[in-house]
Amino acid sequence: MKIESRLAQIGSQSSPDTGAISYPIYQATAFRHPKLGQSTGFDYARTKSPTRTILEDAIAELESGDAGFACSSGMAALQTIFALFSQGDHLIVSLDLYGGTYRLLETIMSRFGVKATYVDTNDLDALEAAYLPNTKGILIETPTNPLMMVTDIELVCSWARKKGVYSIVDNTLLTPFLQRPIELGADIIIHSATKYLGGHNDVLAGLIVTKGKELSAQMAVLHNSIGAVLGPQDSWLLMRGMKTLALRMERHEYNATVISKFLLEHPLINEVYYPAFESHPGHAIQNKQSRGNTGIFSFKVTDAKLVEPILRHIKLIAFAESLGGVESLMTYPAVQTHADIPLEIRQKIGVDERLLRFSVGIEHVDDLVADLAQALDLAQAELEGGAL
Ligand SMILES: *Cc1c(COP(=O)(O)O)cnc(C)c1O
Repeated sequence: MKIESRLAQIGSQSSPDTGAISYPIYQATAFRHPKLGQSTGFDYARTKSPTRTILEDAIAELESGDAGFACSSGMAALQTIFALFSQGDHLIVSLDLYGGTYRLLETIMSRFGVKATYVDTNDLDALEAAYLPNTKGILIETPTNPLMMVTDIELVCSWARKKGVYSIVDNTLLTPFLQRPIELGADIIIHSATKYLGGHNDVLAGLIVTKGKELSAQMAVLHNSIGAVLGPQDSWLLMRGMKTLALRMERHEYNATVISKFLLEHPLINEVYYPAFESHPGHAIQNKQSRGNTGIFSFKVTDAKLVEPILRHIKLIAFAESLGGVESLMTYPAVQTHADIPLEIRQKIGVDERLLRFSVGIEHVDDLVADLAQALDLAQAELEGGAL
C-alpha cells in the first residue's frame, strides 16, 4: 500500500471490538493479569501502553524498521539512543547539527565518558580521519538545520557497516514520507515528532525506529528503563497529526520552493540555502535519496542590521523557534536554536548573524510572500533612513 494511504489509516483498523476508526486513548497505567504467568501483552504503561503501541507500530512500518519507540521529546529519544553507548565510547557526528543534540553530547554525555567528533559527514576522508578504535556510532542529520547540508545516507551507512558501528539518522526534517534512511542502510532513526510528524505546533514528542532484532530488543530495554516515554494523550495527538502528513509535506514543499525563489531574487538577500535549487551542492544527492524537499530553508540578508526590523515587521509569519508546523515560523539561529554551539564552530559552518531560518507553513503562498515583501521593504526603509 502507498504511504499516503498508510498514513491516513493509522490505527483505523486496530479496534475490531468496537470498530472505532480513531483508536481510543487508553489512559490506564496498570493492566489486570488473566492469571499467574499470563498477560494481555500489557502490564505497566511505562513498558507498553495500548495507544502508544499503535503509534510505535505505525512509525516502525513507515520507516521500514522493526520496532518503534515513542518518547516524551526528541531530546528524550536521543538520550535513550545515546544510552546504547558506554564510558570510553566515541561517536562521529554531523558538523552542522541541531543545537540541543550538541548540548546533550557536550554537557552531559561527555561527563559519562562518551566523546564526539564533529565532521562534514559527506567527506569520507574526514570520516576515516575521525574514526578511532573506540568509535561505536555515527549520527547524521540530512539535510542539516539550519544550513541544509546534505549527506549521502547510503554511502555513510555502508561505511559504518564496514566499520561495525551503528549508523543513526535524524530524519526530522524530511519524515518517512520524503526519505527512509533504513532502506538506505541505517540502523536507527530518530525524530523530533514535535516537528513535521505532529505538524501543528501543539505536541512535544520524539520517536525512535530500530532495524534488527537484537538492536530492537536492546532499545526496548533502554526505553523502558529510562522511562522518558510518551503519554497516551500525546500519542493520540501525534497519530492524529500524522494522518495528514502527506498533504502537509506537499504544501510545505510547494510553498518553500516558491518563497525561496522569491528571496533569491530579492536585492536584500544574498544567499538562500535550499537543496531544491540545482545550484545547491547537495542537490543531486538529495534527489537520489529523497522523494522531495522539506519546507525549511535558510537565507542570509545583506546586512545584519536588517534582521531585527524584519523580525519586528513580519505579521503572518511568527518569530518563534520551532519548525515543521502548519503555521510559518521564522527563527534567528545564532541567538536561538544554535546559541549553545560555540562561536568558532558556528562561524566555521556559516551560522552567523545574517542568517535566518524559515519554516514555511501551509498558508497560501501569496500571503506569505506579501508578508515577507512588506517586512523587507520596511526594514530597508529603516536602514536607509538611518533608524538602525
Ligand atoms: C527539534 C529537534 C530535535 C529535538 O527535539 P525536541 O522534540 O525539541 O526535543 C532534534 N533534532 C532535530 C533535527 C530537531 O529539529
